[in-house]
Amino acid sequence: MRNNMVEYKLKNANLQLLRLELGEIGTNCYLVADRTNKELAVIDPAGDFPVLWEAIEAVGYPVKYIINTHGHWDHIGANKELHEKSGAPILIHEKDADMLKLGADRTFRVRFAPSEADRLLADGDELPFGAYKLRVLHTPGHTQGGVCIVLAGAAGDELVFAGDTLFQLSIGRTDLPGGDTDQLLESVRTKLFTLDEKLPVFPGHGPHTFIADEKQYNPFLR
Ligand SMILES: [Zn+2]
Ligand SMILES: [Zn+2]
Repeated sequence: MRNNMVEYKLKNANLQLLRLELGEIGTNCYLVADRTNKELAVIDPAGDFPVLWEAIEAVGYPVKYIINTHGHWDHIGANKELHEKSGAPILIHEKDADMLKLGADRTFRVRFAPSEADRLLADGDELPFGAYKLRVLHTPGHTQGGVCIVLAGAAGDELVFAGDTLFQLSIGRTDLPGGDTDQLLESVRTKLFTLDEKLPVFPGHGPHTFIADEKQYNPFLR
């Protein structure tokens, strides 16, 4: 179990961003908080609920949203427990919502606690979050309901959570059910590479990166 926590230093001191590596394969789970308005969003509660809850309690703000970037087992393992403990709604794109209910992944032969979406996300949705908004980008290709989430403030976009759409120098695999390589590359080009090049990107696995670096160096997209 790898759950070593990283706190990122962001330019905007009102924002707090923590990453935990949770679950069997150490998937990135992000806690993002608006310190001024004391609101917290959890992106991909991947597993290891006790560890996740301890981190949430240390931040000390109520959970406003539980957001799944997509429906794969390694991103949703603590959905049910977090939903029950926090009362926060589970949000996922409509095309991946049914995956939450399955309780198992046949390809990986793993089980997880089934959960249900409380709200379905669509491209362009803007979720109020303290002084910010969480903007939904539908980026299909890894799964059909994959989304990226842009945290946007009055001064512009601050960062993007990329799920398994874009990684540092890589992209999400497209050999699983619902995967489509051309569609994934199109999603990255049209939805992510059109964002401010200075934006930091926080993916579902591995270290963070920047839009500019991926445009320049990502071997799948050159
Ligand atoms: Zn995935
Ligand atoms: Zn993943």
